[in-house]
Amino acid sequence: MTSQDLMIKNAHVVGPETFNGDIRIQNGRITAIGTDLPVAAGTPVYDAAGRTVLPGLVDVHVHFRDPGQTAKETIATGSKAAAHGGFTTVVAMPNVTPVPDNAADLAALLAKNKQAGVVHVHQWAPITDALRSDRLVDFEQFKKMGVLGFSNDGVGVQHAATMMAAMAGVHAAGAPLAAHIEDESLRGNGVMNAGPVADKLGLPGMSNQTESSQLARDLDLAAATGVHYHACHISTRQSVDLIRQAKAAGVHVTAEVTPHHLLLEDTDITGDDPNFKMNPPLRSHADRQAVVQGLLDGTLDMVATDHAPHTLADKGGTMRTAAFGIVGLETAFALLYTRFVRSDRMSLPELVARMSTIPAAAFNLPAGHIQIGAPADLTIMDLDTPYQIDSNTWFSKGVNSPFIGETVYGRTQATIVAGRLVYDQQKEGH
Ligand SMILES: [Zn+2]
Repeated sequence: MTSQDLMIKNAHVVGPETFNGDIRIQNGRITAIGTDLPVAAGTPVYDAAGRTVLPGLVDVHVHFRDPGQTAKETIATGSKAAAHGGFTTVVAMPNVTPVPDNAADLAALLAKNKQAGVVHVHQWAPITDALRSDRLVDFEQFKKMGVLGFSNDGVGVQHAATMMAAMAGVHAAGAPLAAHIEDESLRGNGVMNAGPVADKLGLPGMSNQTESSQLARDLDLAAATGVHYHACHISTRQSVDLIRQAKAAGVHVTAEVTPHHLLLEDTDITGDDPNFKMNPPLRSHADRQAVVQGLLDGTLDMVATDHAPHTLADKGGTMRTAAFGIVGLETAFALLYTRFVRSDRMSLPELVARMSTIPAAAFNLPAGHIQIGAPADLTIMDLDTPYQIDSNTWFSKGVNSPFIGETVYGRTQATIVAGRLVYDQQKEGH
């Protein structure tokens, strides 16, 4: 993508930097901030009066299904959905087909992320060949090729010896390891949270220990190896406690939580609706309270969507047969702004920190700040006009979401990546 010049007039900026004024962008970077900045001839102007300007949002956990399942999503549609949701940087998971576990496939994917992505699309490489094997990939080589880090997301690393060797190798390569935490011997054939709701619906459940027992193992191994261990989509109260203890003990651990685990619980599943089927599953009220508290007190560092688009065919059927996962890029900010910031559980700067500045800092991504010298990655929001979540307005190919029809605040007006308008509500109309 090419960088360019832009002047944003009348910006009301909220985030780690808070100010009112104009923002001058030259060659993709912020070069001046002030009041009534003069506009050079030929420079396009965006008038942000009445809107709120935030640092571009960062999502370290998305699934773009490309290559291999492009009926579900592509790098082009997924990254456009990201832009529509206010995200300027995302990190894609490697559970695509083929799994990029060799240099040729990985190089092709990295090139396609750059070529087709309308926002910055970074890449997780797999930890092991084909995700399910115990053969480690070449961490040093893949890191040099430009991956952010390593993850087998979609499946947990089942064997402790494999995980310990992987952590040592990933740490030596100077990269983080992001874990999908799931003990398959405990999971069985579960399709939702184990407990009274699953019993009532007659559906097989997954216990909290499916996640927390493997997390306990991983945190012990992370302490021993020194790796930066990133815990994906934390869903249980036991996991929040384990991460709190590990952080207190000095383990290099970061953790993410999804909007759906913050906002929904298993009691919201009143019938056989696969839009409530995700992995990890929606948990109990006590678990949801624990992950919310974990995000508020910083035990859980950041929000990540786990954006998981599917075709209608794959997501149709029943809770037993449908695919796991929901889309999230085009609803995450609005849902959390509406439910947390507008209800005074969290300030807007805190939400910006959890969705931009903190994930950027945790993974050394050049994002999360609106200051002179920073890349001009920004999102401009209308925070005042309510609207209904409508999948007809989405750029994602996936429409699998339990939030369709909800009334929210926080509509993206413009998303700017390296000074370029990659989403403009005025031009695109939705
Ligand atoms: Zn996962």
